Amino acid sequence: MSFKDLKLNKPLLRAIAEKGYDNPTLIQERTIPLVLDKKDVIASAQTGTGKTAAFALPILQLLFNRQDVAKNQKKIRALIVSPTRELAIQIQENFQEYAVYTNLKSTVIFGGASIEPQKDILKKGVDVLIATSGRLLDLHKQDVVNLDYVETLVLDEADLMLDMGFIDDVNKIERLCPEQKQTLLFSATMPYKVEQLAKTILNNPRRVEV
Ligand code: AMP
Repeated sequence: MSFKDLKLNKPLLRAIAEKGYDNPTLIQERTIPLVLDKKDVIASAQTGTGKTAAFALPILQLLFNRQDVAKNQKKIRALIVSPTRELAIQIQENFQEYAVYTNLKSTVIFGGASIEPQKDILKKGVDVLIATSGRLLDLHKQDVVNLDYVETLVLDEADLMLDMGFIDDVNKIERLCPEQKQTLLFSATMPYKVEQLAKTILNNPRRVEV
């Protein structure tokens, strides 16, 4: 299977080609069509399988296709929550590379770094926000982050997020987003507590295992 078979659009195909990817990985093959179809997904996949592109590419495509909706211009329409700042930064780098031939903007926010530059970027408006949970809730409280327009929520490395004690944050963030949204949950392992979280926040999810 090729990326073209996955019905990705030209700006994305061009960026993928420049990244030097020949073919989609298994997780990408299985996840991209589900995301494009607006399904909720629970995917068990380790880092290194290409899981970031498995959600980033279809999310960018969905946003790209619906850019004409003027009221949604530069509102946060996709939110990716990461357990660590290192992972958050990596995800943001991926989004930036894949979006290079679109005019979609993304940024990343995380704790342990000064907050003002993050606020300045957010005030200019982004389509995709990648965040660690504490800083996200902080900036939401300060009214710099508006989650009312989120169409797709991604919880990446959910098992790690729960191990780190972020369950309350995750639930809070989920409730700050509109009820009508697509939710994607990625986790390297599927312990009971991840399954429970999935049960409470996912709607008729499709399961992907690689
Ligand atoms: P990830 O699992 O998202 O951390 O990705 C692991 C690595 O695989 C990253 O360096 C990606 O740039 C790379 N990658 C992702 N998708 C593909 C692909 N289809 N072909 C080759 N490399 C890829």
